[in-house]
Amino acid sequence: MHAQGILARSVPRAAHMSLLAVTASVPRPLRLLTCGACGKIEAAFTVQKGVRGPQKLGWQGLRSFSLPLARPFEASRRDSLGLKRGLSSAPQAVLTAPTPKVGANPEMAKQQGYEVISEQFIDEYNSTAILYRHKKTGAEIMSVSNSDEKKVFGIVFRTPAQDSTGIPHILEHSVLCGSRKYPLKNPVGELLKSSLNTFLNAFTYPDRTCYPVASTNLKDFYNLVDVHLDAVFFPRCVNDVQIFQQEGWHYELNESSEDMTYKGVVFNEMKGVYSQPENIMGRFSQQASFPDNTYGVDSGGDPTVIPDLTFEQFQEFHQKFYHPSNARLWFYGDDDPNERLRVISAYLDSFEASQSAKESEVGIQKLFTEPKRVVEKYAAGEGGDTGKKHMVYISWVLCDEPLDEETELALGFLDHLMLGTPAAPLRKALMESGLGEALVGGGLDDDLRQPSFSIGMKGVAADKTVEVEELVIKTLNGLVDEGFTAEAVEASINTIEFSLRENNTGSFPRGLSLMLRSMGKWLYGGDPFEALRFAKPLEAFKERIANEGVKGVFSPLIKKFILDNTHRVTVELQPDTEKGVKDEAAEAERLAKVKASMTKEDLAELVRATEELRVRQETPDPPEALRVVPSLSLKDIPKDPINVPIAVGEINGATVLRHDIFTNDVLYTEVAFDMSTLRADLLPLVPLFCQSLLEMGTKDMDFVELSQLIGRKTGGISVFPYVSSVHGKKEALSYFMIRGKAMANQTADLFNLMKVVLKDVQFNDQQRFQQFVSQRKSGMESRVVGGGHGVAATRMDGMLNVAGWVNEQMGGLSYLNYLRSLEKRVEEDWPAVSQALEDIRSAVLGRKGVIVNLTADEKILTSAEPHVSNFLDAFPETSGDRTCTWNPVLHRVNEGLVIPTKVNYVGKAACLYDAGYEMDGSSYVIQKYIGNTWLWDRVRVSGGAYGGFCDFDMFSGVFSYLSYRDPNLLKTLDNYDGTVEFLKNLELDDEALTKAIIGTIGEMDSYQLPDAKGYSSMIRYMMGVTWEQRQQRREQILSTSVEDFRNFGSSLEYVRDSGVVVAVASADDIAAANEAKPGFLDVVKVL
Ligand SMILES: [Zn+2]
Repeated sequence: MHAQGILARSVPRAAHMSLLAVTASVPRPLRLLTCGACGKIEAAFTVQKGVRGPQKLGWQGLRSFSLPLARPFEASRRDSLGLKRGLSSAPQAVLTAPTPKVGANPEMAKQQGYEVISEQFIDEYNSTAILYRHKKTGAEIMSVSNSDEKKVFGIVFRTPAQDSTGIPHILEHSVLCGSRKYPLKNPVGELLKSSLNTFLNAFTYPDRTCYPVASTNLKDFYNLVDVHLDAVFFPRCVNDVQIFQQEGWHYELNESSEDMTYKGVVFNEMKGVYSQPENIMGRFSQQASFPDNTYGVDSGGDPTVIPDLTFEQFQEFHQKFYHPSNARLWFYGDDDPNERLRVISAYLDSFEASQSAKESEVGIQKLFTEPKRVVEKYAAGEGGDTGKKHMVYISWVLCDEPLDEETELALGFLDHLMLGTPAAPLRKALMESGLGEALVGGGLDDDLRQPSFSIGMKGVAADKTVEVEELVIKTLNGLVDEGFTAEAVEASINTIEFSLRENNTGSFPRGLSLMLRSMGKWLYGGDPFEALRFAKPLEAFKERIANEGVKGVFSPLIKKFILDNTHRVTVELQPDTEKGVKDEAAEAERLAKVKASMTKEDLAELVRATEELRVRQETPDPPEALRVVPSLSLKDIPKDPINVPIAVGEINGATVLRHDIFTNDVLYTEVAFDMSTLRADLLPLVPLFCQSLLEMGTKDMDFVELSQLIGRKTGGISVFPYVSSVHGKKEALSYFMIRGKAMANQTADLFNLMKVVLKDVQFNDQQRFQQFVSQRKSGMESRVVGGGHGVAATRMDGMLNVAGWVNEQMGGLSYLNYLRSLEKRVEEDWPAVSQALEDIRSAVLGRKGVIVNLTADEKILTSAEPHVSNFLDAFPETSGDRTCTWNPVLHRVNEGLVIPTKVNYVGKAACLYDAGYEMDGSSYVIQKYIGNTWLWDRVRVSGGAYGGFCDFDMFSGVFSYLSYRDPNLLKTLDNYDGTVEFLKNLELDDEALTKAIIGTIGEMDSYQLPDAKGYSSMIRYMMGVTWEQRQQRREQILSTSVEDFRNFGSSLEYVRDSGVVVAVASADDIAAANEAKPGFLDVVKVL
């Protein structure tokens, strides 16, 4: 499954997930790609099991790179501080708060030209949902009303492609490049500068295109809705071939004598996609599985086919499919339902009905009578052992008739049982087989018209690919014969039920997650309400298991849908070191042929057109055009930071923080143990210590049993370290945290299991531990290549302050080096390693300095107290000798970290407090502004890097510049240094300043679910951040002046003159930098 998104800021996790897959744990590589026009940076994304939140890679995850474990619940250090990204709305403002609003006034709806198809109350989400038809055009509208303040709107068209020219994807980009009411180059980008939006994006699926927005601010919300509606129905691109050329493809020729090239945002984007083997593999598999319908082509666009697309085809596609008769619209939240219908009428009424809904129907792929095997090649690098770079991917299309609700639910459970946790048998069998490095394939995928199931491995030796396939079949046969244990089934049911009830979508809007789920039925003529319900089918399913037994339910499913299913496609992808060169040569030849066929006049015309397009791209929109983009004013902004209730108390000598927030019967807790007593040499072992606690097992239970017990009795448990600088202190703040969640009636089990994990787990499984080390080592190695900016940032922090040093030990280059030597130590002296793990336990687990954080409503909080007390009793009063203090930092020197790469990551940083800068809220506005303007223009647009950005850490005082996938090195550093003069000479009118301020506050007030609110509040408590400080900071932001920008420019002179540089780059580029500036970088070979 591949969806292209225009912005990679918020990744639609749910876009690729079924109702039940919320907890699926096979990493689902969501290939959400950035779109050059408005997008920032590609965000790879995986969904993990249990309480662990999504791991984002990319610029947003910058800081979290310094920590080895994903921060659960999406609360990264930066996000959790009210200073930078504060809290959000009223405590009770969650989905299930009481008294939902009713639907629109029926009379009014009728007058406006709508008829009600169905109206239902959805108990599960405490919402009234009404499905309307717009009578004139046939457009369908789902209007969901409840008390969720995070309002969501989306418009979705079925956009089946006939070929792989990427029309739907190019159109998705192009309609956002200006419209009738908003005739700008990039209205979305302009909106983002000053919007309070919490979500704004567009996605292309294999058969549909979605345009969603979400906001908590009513005015902002309707501004966003209008920009999207105008964009899809009245875009400029259909009459403006230059937009098509810019976003899609065109020939570029700067001088008649030069070689011609292809240019275009989507063209380049898809070239990037087609150079990632996992992406190609998924595409080959889908296309081979659906030869007879639209899934047999690539809606995103195959770079070798994209240049076949004509402007006329593009126009026709828009006219046909972007029509109300082919549209499904979705509203969700606490806004006025009458207003919704009124707003869309203004657009829908201007169209007549069309046949487009018929023409956009997705046909059914008849099932194969025999399995298929496909062997393909991908372009591999020269380095490493290409013999071990094969991939195998096995995929089944499950049916060619719609499944009933119950079977769908059962398949969801089966998926979780087979793959959902490290203890799940299919996943465990593959991982422990040693046949490959990692799993690929997402398990069950029910987003498309016909569901499929896929699984495979990468990093497989050439002669082992068949064995992977055989192992999958053998394991599945075993599961048919033996079934799953009752414990495993109970764990899966509890985990899935918990996640359905909790409905914790992190920072992804709940209303959008529901929309995407509902669309999976609605789009194919199914019941859009069905996906919103789960209580009854779940009960029925549990009853069926009770009656028919585990084997009776699941064994026939495995047999029918997988083992006996002949619609099976196996793709083997082989590395080919020559393919890259051959593909390039083929493209050059094609271009040369075209050029040879052109007359002199044609060529001159092409040179002129190339120049004309460039001039247009470089010419800014006139101020009057920018003014039409709706913007909020300062008076729309709440004056106060968002408040989270907190009561500080004490139990058994531990500090207890209670947050009385409505959580729909879930208790969230964190217990933070003081980590500052840990011997410095043990720090790099902490991430593995955390993993061992959850995946090693106790004296009485192996890790499978422990993991199932956690699944059966809780909503999940995770452990991770937390380290940060504190303003005004040299020492780092450091905690070892365990976090858990459970339904209120499982509180006793939750605390009991947390105790078991911390106290009873034994560090005695050498082989498993060695697996952890290898996995983490290879994970770190790919992180250096894929996210070198994070590694550079961590490295620079490690040179500038103690907290940075600690984080570098646990997640930076030092950590990677440690893991490399650890592999050997585990082999040669396991008892010492095992003892070191015990040493961490005894150093950290003491009651002194413990903070217990509890988030739930008052009743649950009170009833949790005795369990907290029991839990604390299990730990000694003090923990070891409390004498360790860390104070080292890395030697401060400019470094060039060498890796095999075509693109670099360049960082430069210094501590502004060292230069006398005083903390001030205006720095947020300024930092964001620099990123959106100077660095964007210099490092990205003209420099050609994928991203350039800066970051100021209020706590440590470190200001850092970073670039992402950057073709340059020294030139980028010059651009960083140029920030000083840019700011000093800045002219900024009131309007632009106001926009910058509002955008900053919008980011700060981003919406949080209750668990994230409680967590953020705890972090603020630990850091000593008071309400008064937050208020002061907010006032400083709101009163930021142009003078502040200029003064900040002066402060940045210190970074320019004394900053430290770390570049993660190719050997050639580092050598070139040292040639131009002898001795500039210390060269460190990393890979
Ligand atoms: Zn795109």
